[in-house]
Amino acid sequence: MQKETIAVHGGYNNKEGYGTMSVPIAQTTAYAFRDAEHAANLFALKELGPIYTRLNNPTTDVLEQRFAQLEGGAGALCVASGQSAIFYAIANVAEAGDNILISDKLYGGAVTLLTHTIKRFGISAKVFKSADASDLEEQIDDKTKAIFFESLSNPQIAIADVEKIVEIGKKTGVLTICDNTVASAALFNPIDWGVDVVVHSTSKYTNGQGSAIGGIIVERDGLAEFFKENSQRYYNFTEPDTSYHGLVYTDVPLPNFTLRARLSLLRDIGAAQSPHNSWLLLQTIETLALRVDKHSENALEIAKFLESHPKVKSVNYPGLESSPYYEKAQKYFKDGKASGLISFEVESYDAAKAVIDSAKLFSVVVNIGDSKSLIVHPASTTHSQMNEEELVAAGINSTTVRLSIGLEDPKDLIEDLELALS
Ligand SMILES: *Cc1c(COP(=O)(O)O)cnc(C)c1O
Repeated sequence: MQKETIAVHGGYNNKEGYGTMSVPIAQTTAYAFRDAEHAANLFALKELGPIYTRLNNPTTDVLEQRFAQLEGGAGALCVASGQSAIFYAIANVAEAGDNILISDKLYGGAVTLLTHTIKRFGISAKVFKSADASDLEEQIDDKTKAIFFESLSNPQIAIADVEKIVEIGKKTGVLTICDNTVASAALFNPIDWGVDVVVHSTSKYTNGQGSAIGGIIVERDGLAEFFKENSQRYYNFTEPDTSYHGLVYTDVPLPNFTLRARLSLLRDIGAAQSPHNSWLLLQTIETLALRVDKHSENALEIAKFLESHPKVKSVNYPGLESSPYYEKAQKYFKDGKASGLISFEVESYDAAKAVIDSAKLFSVVVNIGDSKSLIVHPASTTHSQMNEEELVAAGINSTTVRLSIGLEDPKDLIEDLELALS
């Protein structure tokens, strides 16, 4: 089925329940069991069904199924935010003494989480260059549990060499995890290229209107076989889980990665998505492909305008032929479209501040993927927790301005930027 069709129908049968066309919000904490045996069966996974909204919820379940289908995955797990999706994806495979490999081009929140916070849990992160993965394989050892990267990175707007990363992951038997937030499921599907696990902040393009925080983890089909083949590394999936009465995940005919994340991490740490946010995301996902097309078309027009402007030193947008990522955008992304994210360089920090303060249609906001156009200075906001060295490595300067192009008419946005730059 095509994505546009899945986005509207996936995971929901309107002949069940009350027959409502809109997916109902199951605004409930818990569920009544038929009897004691039914309850026991649910806990023992002999029967599947909702138990408690921290673990599962019928509205969230529709979103999980729809999203898994959109990404071409076997299963999905919604969580409360993109950050918790990243944390759960890592904590699902790594523990004290382990390490992970992370891309040099990541979202600021992912950098602090993966280099500082998880260090406190004894998991260390080593950095590799995602543009060509030339230093990836040499850094992998028998304690390496995951390779984490962003398909289209925020805010550097760099595209990873997905094929090379996947090739090394497969060769060494290390799980690949791709944060696909910025490209979105409309432009790119990492699983089609062999990636094992996909995470998203659904707060961005999936929501598209800046009205809900959410995160999701999607896994490809066949991870049980992968864990069995690499059981020395992934013994948590092939050996009994003493916290779940000795369950061996690879023995269960359900998508293994999200099963373990749900039964152990969501159960114990509890960053569950509210049913209301799942419902909001079910509304917005219906128009995801339409919106991302328009965001991308607008952004290309604006990137071309900026490139021709004398006060703009350089423009970074993978849809521009001048971009070092142009070829990758053509290869990986639907119709070579490249989302609504643009960054550009001006002469000085003061010039960057002046543009941000003078733009009227652009709101000064750290979010991305909203229908409203946004502008931000990454070095002093989203990436202010990074030191000088980390900033340089991430390609963020004090003269960088980032735009998230919305759904307004591009003529108005160009006029606004023209004034702001004058
Ligand atoms: C925003 C973002 C996140 C974090 O998501 P939240 O929903 O804000 O927690 C993670 N990765 C990327 C690429 C993002 O843009």
